[in-house]
Amino acid sequence: MGWTIQALHVGTLVDFPRAALTYHRGFGEVHDVAMIMFLITGGPHPVIVDTGTGDEETTRRLHGYTLERTPAQHPLAALEAAGVDPADVGTVINTHLHWDHSSNNHVFPNARIVVQKAELAYAVDPLEPNLAAFERQPGVTPAWVEALGRTTTVEGDVEILPGISVVHLPGHTPGSQGVLVDGASGQRHLLAGDCVDLHANWQGDAKLSRIPSGSFTDLAAYMESFRKIERLGVNVIPSHDVEVVKQGTFA
Ligand SMILES: [Zn+2]
Repeated sequence: MGWTIQALHVGTLVDFPRAALTYHRGFGEVHDVAMIMFLITGGPHPVIVDTGTGDEETTRRLHGYTLERTPAQHPLAALEAAGVDPADVGTVINTHLHWDHSSNNHVFPNARIVVQKAELAYAVDPLEPNLAAFERQPGVTPAWVEALGRTTTVEGDVEILPGISVVHLPGHTPGSQGVLVDGASGQRHLLAGDCVDLHANWQGDAKLSRIPSGSFTDLAAYMESFRKIERLGVNVIPSHDVEVVKQGTFA
């Protein structure tokens, strides 16, 4: 038995500042960032990892970014095309509670939502530079709060279902977590969340073996999370790389 991961493309943040993705690299450059909702099938109920952004207007108003989303990239349309009724999804795992990973939690009415306890605590009371990413603004109900009634917490590395575990990878945020998936082909995959935004982060360059995101709360923890992923020795799937969407399926 094993699971199959599908990368559902639910929009693109265009002209996103490159240096926000790759630490101190690409100042003044922009990058189109894929918004990806991961669908995992092969068990009794579908599992979702991360749920993407809100709509174009909300993205512009609350975050100042341009979201491009074709009709087929609407989260409900992407799920329907994959043959999934949102009501049948039993588990939603958020790698972290930034808006671009949790804004459609509410479309899964019967799912248990799984986050790290440290992430939930930080989302409630982040440092000032991180307020916007958790939608902590006066007069705004953050998207992750909309589904708070079904949100449950875990601490550290925990099996969620047979063949699916979360792995605590702090750094980008205090409660960032990856999702380890036993693929149907026998390969193990790590949905790395924003610990690894792009393949370029994991590949590194001449000066850095692994390149952190430009956005982090703890750089020392972040580098230790890279070492932890190396020790896992699994296939690393970035959170925002358009190549992941092109490949589409991982098993
Ligand atoms: Zn992100």
